[in-house]
Amino acid sequence: MDAPIILYIEDNADNRMLVRRVLMAEDFVVVDYPDGQTGLTWATEHTPTLILMDINLPEIDGYAVTAKLRDLPHLARVPIIALTANVMKGDREKTLAAGCDGYIQKPIDVDLLPRQILRFIQEAQARS
Ligand code: MN
Repeated sequence: MDAPIILYIEDNADNRMLVRRVLMAEDFVVVDYPDGQTGLTWATEHTPTLILMDINLPEIDGYAVTAKLRDLPHLARVPIIALTANVMKGDREKTLAAGCDGYIQKPIDVDLLPRQILRFIQEAQARS
C-alpha cells in the first residue's frame, strides 16, 4: 500500500502537531488545516486516503464541513472520521448522520491512533 494520505482538519495547534508527529512516525502523509474552509479548498483538488475531522471548529463546524465534503463526488468513498471530545449521548449518531464513517474520541490515544486509522481505511477498501 502507498503511504496513506490523511487530511486532518483541526483548530487546535497542539493537537495538529501531536497527530502529525504520531502519524508521520508510522509513515502516513499528513496534511492539516486549522478550519473547515481551508480544508475544503484543499479537498476539492486532492483525494486523501482518509479524513480526520474535528467537530468543534470555528465558523463552520465539523458536521457542516463533513456534509460539504460528502457533496464532492471524488470523495464519495473516502472515509471521514470524526474526532471529538463530545461524549454526550447522541453525538455518535450525529456524526454518522452528517456523513462520517466513524468516530474517534478525544483525548487521542497516541498508541492506538495509527491502528484505528488503518482499520478505518481497510474497512473502506473492503466496502468498495
Ligand atoms: Mn476543535
